[in-house]
Amino acid sequence: MQEPLLTPEPYVKVALPVPMRTLFEYKVPKAIALRHTLSPGMRLKVPFGKQTRLGIIVELCYQTDWDAEQIKPFTSLHDETSIMPEPIIDLCKWASRYYHHPIGDVFFHALPAMLRKGESDNFRSEIWWVITEEGKKVQLDELKRAPKQHAFFDVLKAHPNGLSPHIMRLHDLQSPVAKALEDKGLIQRDLRHFSKNAEHHGHQKHVPPTLNHEQTIAVRELTSQLGHFNVTLLDGITGSGKTEVYLRLIEQVIAKEQQVLVLVPEIGLTPQTLRRFEDRFNTDIVLLHSNMSDRERLDGWLMARSGKAKVIIGTRSSIFVPAPYLSLLILDEEHDASYKQQDGFRFHTRDLALIRAKSINACVVLGSATPSYESLHNAKQKKFHWIKLRSRAGNAKIPSMERIDLRGKTLINGLCESSLERINTHLNRKEQVLIFLNRRGYAPTLMCHDCGWIANCKHCDVNLTVHKRANKLHCHHCGYQEALLNQCGECQSHEIFTIGEGTEQIESQLSNVFKETPVLRIDRDSTSRKESLNTITQKIHEHDKAILVGTQMLAKGHHFPNVTLVIVMDADVGLFSSDFRGMERTAQLITQVAGRAGRASKPGHVLLQTYHPDHPSIESLCSLGYEYFANQGLQERKALEMPPYLHQILIRSESADEEQSYLLLEQLRDEAERHIKHFNYPIRLLGPYSAIIVRKAGQHRYILTFKSANRAPLHQLISQLAQSLERNPLTRKVRYAIDVDPLETY
Ligand code: ADP
Ligand code: ZN
Ligand code: ZN
Repeated sequence: MQEPLLTPEPYVKVALPVPMRTLFEYKVPKAIALRHTLSPGMRLKVPFGKQTRLGIIVELCYQTDWDAEQIKPFTSLHDETSIMPEPIIDLCKWASRYYHHPIGDVFFHALPAMLRKGESDNFRSEIWWVITEEGKKVQLDELKRAPKQHAFFDVLKAHPNGLSPHIMRLHDLQSPVAKALEDKGLIQRDLRHFSKNAEHHGHQKHVPPTLNHEQTIAVRELTSQLGHFNVTLLDGITGSGKTEVYLRLIEQVIAKEQQVLVLVPEIGLTPQTLRRFEDRFNTDIVLLHSNMSDRERLDGWLMARSGKAKVIIGTRSSIFVPAPYLSLLILDEEHDASYKQQDGFRFHTRDLALIRAKSINACVVLGSATPSYESLHNAKQKKFHWIKLRSRAGNAKIPSMERIDLRGKTLINGLCESSLERINTHLNRKEQVLIFLNRRGYAPTLMCHDCGWIANCKHCDVNLTVHKRANKLHCHHCGYQEALLNQCGECQSHEIFTIGEGTEQIESQLSNVFKETPVLRIDRDSTSRKESLNTITQKIHEHDKAILVGTQMLAKGHHFPNVTLVIVMDADVGLFSSDFRGMERTAQLITQVAGRAGRASKPGHVLLQTYHPDHPSIESLCSLGYEYFANQGLQERKALEMPPYLHQILIRSESADEEQSYLLLEQLRDEAERHIKHFNYPIRLLGPYSAIIVRKAGQHRYILTFKSANRAPLHQLISQLAQSLERNPLTRKVRYAIDVDPLETY
């Protein structure tokens, strides 16, 4: 190999948002080298093909492996200083290596959308008006003959800190008036940075409750962990007061002028949770989630980067937010699948949290009532500290769980008679009932009585779901919609009927049965508008008796103090799942939903409707609880050589052309087999096999699985394969994805 050339002028290695697993090298133009000090994390414009692109400097180097003559100079510098601090750059590099994802895409994912598009890394600024020394001497009366200026001055005197555009709008004050006063030298402009998400609450803070015994021990142990890298699994049953434990730790972090990052699942960001934080701390709290405008997100990001925001609450991608004084990372509901990005850059927030914490010597708390098997395994291996909270906080009791045998029973609206009786009993006591069914829409199937035709999606191998209220058929896999038919799509018969029930049907039928009781539905359809979840939860709190019908949205974080009965309509759903995580997921879901019962002073009851009351899984979950259940599950995983005892990486392909989709993975398998033989890798291969729903959104999907007890060779092989995938001409027609530690394997 040729020796790398030593060159006088340095090069930059640049991340670009393109699907290639490489950094791109550019020469530093002489003029720029003279005037600027370059550093990683600065954005710049570079020539790329025929275009100019925005990129990020990842490294500076003094030599190159390429032919120096062929390296182009970059076009211009976009920032004066780095916008991305070193720990975030390191995190991106690590993520790109571990997930085998194109490095440019990782870097761009880590930035707020506006910075990706070239916006400057400054707060939005706005003009405030403040009074001048001259103005202070002026008496209000002196302005009597100019009533508009008089009014302006009047409001300004009442706001000694100055008038923001917001206050001006409130008082209907116009800018020309301000201009006139400015000309008189009585007021002047002040350019200020504004952040809507930094809510500084000056009012009296809530007095925290007295911690119970278990909480006290937890806080004491965790306090001793603060200040250095370590991970704790806070394994506390629903309602055990985990959030209170977080709040006590955060209090200490704020007192030290340090920062905390609180990660929550997608839907876990309930207004109730946020209010608890705001009511406790007299400090800037910043929110980062997908339901915000790009500008709001950038402002929040800047608040965090400046160190001003002490508490940052965000979803998945906020793991990349810079925070120079970060000393504590909390992952609430750490088992939640939404922490893993399921398309594009498939990272897991938990992994990244650990890597980031380690690099900055921070403390991590993973909280859950139903910890993931991975985290339980790590706790058992003593890689994590393990703190258990096994009693409920305050006066709340642990709910009782009961199996309801559905075999041979007549069902009315999906509920058997004894379930209906129990609903009546609780409603008569002016309490609330929660009915859980993880299937939205009216019915999952529309069928013809005469010819057996079933309404299918044009683009996927699945049935269309009936949505009666919207008068539509929906595909829940690709989003396709069509008008609800009133006749068979095959034989035109009018004898068509629905099979099965979804939440919409249960809601409408129960409102006919329980005419006096409000029936409220909570699922993706009923809460699609921004404020509707708030409106529904408000209604729930207003009424005494009520029936809530909902999907897994109901399982997450809500606190409905008057719910005393929870009915799981179909506890068997996960029993025969083809995915090895099916049982784990079902047990978590049922336990979380059950945890909504009896969270205040009244005791709660949970009914599991099942056709398999004697199935060992249902039985152990019901009578022995999640911890026991998960222990059994882990033993099974060990016996079957499944994660976390074995590591997995999948490569997925999809294409409109079914044959090519399969062919790509077949070629890859042959290549992998050669490598495995040649390097003697301890790796097992499975596939290519088809995804359970082979065709989704018109794409035919296949999977190749790699397994090993040893991470290093696994990653080595995948990186060899990733390189060859980039060169494979089939990838022009076939899209592929590498999924490291997949949550779904079908
Ligand atoms: P988790 O996060 O474990 O589900 P929370 O922290 O939300 O539990 O607590 C459940 C309820 O109990 C909340 O309403 C909370 O205000 C209350 N709570 C928490 N700790 C205490 C305590 N020590 N004494 C009284 N009430 C408490
Ligand atoms: Zn028909
Ligand atoms: Zn579809």
